[in-house]
Amino acid sequence: MVLEKINNRLFKGIGASPGIVIGKARIADRSRVAIIEVLITDTEVPAEIDRFNKSLQEAKDELKAFKEQIASTKGLEHLYVIDTHLLILEDSMLTSETVQFIQSEKINAEAALKRTLKKFIKVFSGIEDEYLRERSTDVETVIERVLRNMVGKRHDLISEAEGRVIIVAHDLSPADILQIDKEKVIGFITDLGGRTSHTAILSRSLEIPAVIGLERITSEVSDGDPLILDGKAGLVIINPDEETFRDYLQKKQYYEYRERELLKLRDLPAETMDGYRIKLKGNVEFSEEISSIKKHGGEGVGLYRTEMLFLNRMSLPGEEEQFLAYSAAVRQMLPYPVTIRTLDVGGDKFVPDLNLDDELNPALGLRAIRLSLRQPDLFKTQLRAILRASALGKVKIFFPMISGVTEIREAKVFLEEAKRELQQASLPFDEEIEIGIMIETPSAVLIADLLAREVDFFSVGTNDLIQYSLAIDRTNEHLSGLYEPLHPAVLRSLKMVADAAHAAGINVCICGEMASEPTYLPILLGLGYEELSMNAVSIPEVKKVLRRCSKSEAEKLAAQLLNFATAAEVESYLQGQITARYSDSID
Ligand code: PEP
Ligand code: MG
Repeated sequence: MVLEKINNRLFKGIGASPGIVIGKARIADRSRVAIIEVLITDTEVPAEIDRFNKSLQEAKDELKAFKEQIASTKGLEHLYVIDTHLLILEDSMLTSETVQFIQSEKINAEAALKRTLKKFIKVFSGIEDEYLRERSTDVETVIERVLRNMVGKRHDLISEAEGRVIIVAHDLSPADILQIDKEKVIGFITDLGGRTSHTAILSRSLEIPAVIGLERITSEVSDGDPLILDGKAGLVIINPDEETFRDYLQKKQYYEYRERELLKLRDLPAETMDGYRIKLKGNVEFSEEISSIKKHGGEGVGLYRTEMLFLNRMSLPGEEEQFLAYSAAVRQMLPYPVTIRTLDVGGDKFVPDLNLDDELNPALGLRAIRLSLRQPDLFKTQLRAILRASALGKVKIFFPMISGVTEIREAKVFLEEAKRELQQASLPFDEEIEIGIMIETPSAVLIADLLAREVDFFSVGTNDLIQYSLAIDRTNEHLSGLYEPLHPAVLRSLKMVADAAHAAGINVCICGEMASEPTYLPILLGLGYEELSMNAVSIPEVKKVLRRCSKSEAEKLAAQLLNFATAAEVESYLQGQITARYSDSID
């Protein structure tokens, strides 16, 4: 969308990874390979199948070589992306479907592979969950690689970029991001992409400024154009005039200064002015993000969303594969704990191998713990993998979407069974592993006192709790104005949960997005939350505000805020207090 067209051309996309960079555009050719469908004769079928298999093998060999190269330059922690791509290439459906198309439709191998791709994409496009939908880009990237091998096109390597450039591409795969040499590429912008794509997650974790989802930026920019990229605001300016250039140079300097200042807080305690200590932790989807938690001074993983391990693939991960993933996270986070959440799929999160039915109200359907309890093998495989990882460091385990006491009791029975099975197999685990639940439903809030007797800790998932308390679909952009974290019902719920936890003497934390909002920190502190878990880059900002707060004042403020009748009233009072006390801490 063009917002302004004087000297500068300003485009608004999605800020995938923060940071301001100024540089020259380098267009990366990521265009799709054009495929022509050709009919073949019966006698040509074996040769076409052979050609397909060869190109597939070539693509695998390339990826393996690339994997070795990355292992020596970028470290082992990023190899999962290449492994994901290799797994897609090794998927038996990919081969069998393509061979079948060649045989039954009598078409050339490229066209048959393209049809298989279309079939896969169709399955993915029916998925509502944004994250999952975007997994289809992994499949596309990989198949594109095979197609390029078939038609003899060379892969256009991002690593060949020279100078300090900003890559402009229709789309970039996570594998492309891994090729980026930060000495040569200072940022990237793309037409496609969403905030939760692997590409976005990796760019944040590797701290490469990026704006994605710009729709048509590739047709607006020419190679060599001067560009400004603002990864926090999600803005791109093509051919900036002198005034804009100077303005952004200043913004860039300020941004970098602020980042440096914030990082100085890394080793300072997460403590209020009156000496009250809380824990600030990071949320992760992959163990790769743990280095960012450490860098930003987080004291552990407060939420490991394990479902990501299940989503980007056609078949389910087994115990061994899960154990490797969890133990990598546990080892990297030492000496701090990793809080692992069991599978939170179903509803709008789709796992092909689980064959879930379409549901009329997926958010209220067979999801999270409800699904795990109905799939004992799946559940126990995961529990065993988590338990085994607990032998290597400090692990806590918790269950998503609990709505009643029966569910947690049933989950504990499975956990005990999983423990027995490991004992029988003489496999070590932490016998004292702490168990907890997510508080995300109004029913869990109302019976928080009863639930507190069953577990060692509560972790409030405010993203879902707000959705279910206010009956607002968290994914519906038309209702986003009604999605009010400061709604009195939400604040009262947060208070009830914290009070119930304190009365029972168990730990209480928040791992929903509310925890990462520095403005909300005084309320959460005042309500008695002892632990906040968030995206790693938010940790220093939240810590900065925390260190300017006093617990006793925050308690008074929270008590006052609980008296207001609307979210708007809460917000305006809170803003007044923030401006008066902490305005220099919050940007
Ligand atoms: C939440 O609901 O707040 C939460 C942390 O879980 P998720 O965002 O994964 O649903
Ligand atoms: Mg949730």
